Amino acid sequence: MAETDNHPTNFIRQIIEKDLAAGVHDTIKTRFPPEPNGFLHIGHAKSICLNFGIAADYQGTCNLRFDDTNPVKEDIAYVNAIKEDVNWLGFSWDGDVRYSSDYFEQLHGYALELINKGLAYVDFSSQDEMREMRGTLTQPGKNSPYRDTDVATNRREFEKMTAGEYAEGQCSLRAKIDMASPFMCLRDPVIYRVKFAHHHQTGDKWCVYPMYDFTHCISDAIEGITHSLCTLEFQDNRRLYDWVIENISIDCTPRQYEFSRLNLEYTVLSKRRLIQLVEEHHVDGWDDPRMPTIAGLRRRGYTPASVREFCKRIGVTKMDNMVEMSMLEACIRDDLNVAAPRAMAVLNPIKLVIENFPQGQVETLSAPNHPNDESMGKREIAFSRELWIEAEDFREAANKKFKRLVLGKEVRLRNAYVVKAERVEKDADGNVTVVYCQYDPETLGKDPSDGRKVKGVIHWVDATSGEEAEFRLYDRLFNVPNPAAEENFTDVINPDSLVVKKGIVEAGLNENPASGGWQFERTGYFCLDKTSTAALKVFNRTVGLRDTWAKIGD
Ligand code: ATP
Ligand code: MG
Repeated sequence: MAETDNHPTNFIRQIIEKDLAAGVHDTIKTRFPPEPNGFLHIGHAKSICLNFGIAADYQGTCNLRFDDTNPVKEDIAYVNAIKEDVNWLGFSWDGDVRYSSDYFEQLHGYALELINKGLAYVDFSSQDEMREMRGTLTQPGKNSPYRDTDVATNRREFEKMTAGEYAEGQCSLRAKIDMASPFMCLRDPVIYRVKFAHHHQTGDKWCVYPMYDFTHCISDAIEGITHSLCTLEFQDNRRLYDWVIENISIDCTPRQYEFSRLNLEYTVLSKRRLIQLVEEHHVDGWDDPRMPTIAGLRRRGYTPASVREFCKRIGVTKMDNMVEMSMLEACIRDDLNVAAPRAMAVLNPIKLVIENFPQGQVETLSAPNHPNDESMGKREIAFSRELWIEAEDFREAANKKFKRLVLGKEVRLRNAYVVKAERVEKDADGNVTVVYCQYDPETLGKDPSDGRKVKGVIHWVDATSGEEAEFRLYDRLFNVPNPAAEENFTDVINPDSLVVKKGIVEAGLNENPASGGWQFERTGYFCLDKTSTAALKVFNRTVGLRDTWAKIGD
């Protein structure tokens, strides 16, 4: 299959194309294997887009399999959240959702097979002793005194383990491989441990649970996975993956390939750290719009297409790198710039009173929903004597660079008339609260007839019909590009990562448009938050209009 514009090639696609051409496989089968111990983050999106994307492009299939071998940390709530996120990203898994725990019976059988072949033994060494015997990267390990226990005894002991006759930590089942291997994972790895834990899928049926490395490869083989794609930290474990498959009776040989994890600046992508942010209430839950979780991005106003586009732009390689946040933001900006209808909102309101506009009169004006796309139509907006404008859009005095409203000067109100500021009213602190102006009734949709040039344009909201709203403005969650490198990453949380503004929005924005959100003219892209009510609308700023990240570090 040729490289398409839509899906740039990468080393994994090249391997697959070669395998298909050589007839190694007729159909490609991949899987996405999350552990249900947290919400998915943007790094997982990379893996989802890779696995499901490959299945789709090569007419194969992709399974969703929960890698649920650690019941203590897992939760059914995570299972549900993960399913929702995968669907939201636009992907469907093949058949039913799978669980590694579906295979506990078979895995147990394969463990017995290894015992029977003299390739696994029950070890009663303590954890400390095992660590001691393991050796180091430069020193070979030592054989456990239990390594040469006979097969019949091992079988009996494993049965006792399974029957709950041993306490947690008292013993474990280990594969008998090579204590001198340069790959630590081959130094007789533990493949089963005792754990008296309730499992969200299998209940209290088991008190022994298989380890990840033993489970993953066998689950892949049972499902007929052809290409098992994972991140680089599993590179060494591939030796164990292959060893298990070679030494059990299963007639499928999945192959593991590793690619680099996504790292994103100014955030953390590790479930352990994300859990800490949630549990210590540094953020407002897993879907806090500042979180790099898929649920957080969704609530922030990211669209599935923008996340998929991001995954396409970052590509798939074996090189570790740190991706700039501006990459992610560019994707949603590009999407919304085309698709989002325009609307007007004022985040820091001051009053603009048009003294020559009749009291009590409301004029209905028409505003295009998109400046470059007529098919998006127009909407009616009210215009009356009192409007709201942004405090920053007015100055009593300014030089020519300030293209907004200045005392004694003119500016155009977007989609409406030209006004001239005449005088102001201030509060006790000297802040301008009201600007009084005159409007030129001849300037609706056209320049002044006498040839006066009015360069600036500002946005506004009509005071009779505008609605009070809360605007949540988000910034990076951390103050440093790589918070994970800090001794304590919560020390570098940005205290200003959320700024809440009370302002005014034009009427009629009652539910998010098909694009996901609006562009509020001159202020950014916004979407309604789930906490929004009829009494008080709450908007999240998805992203600003321009890249403000590029400047960071200047
Ligand atoms: P974390 O380190 O965040 O806890 P994990 O690897 O433990 O992640 P899993 O649920 O085991 O999370 O991951 C499911 C799949 O997603 C795995 O194949 C894993 O390699 C992949 N994955 C996890 N994090 C990233 C990332 N940052 N970039 C790309 N793929 C990732
Ligand atoms: Mg993991």
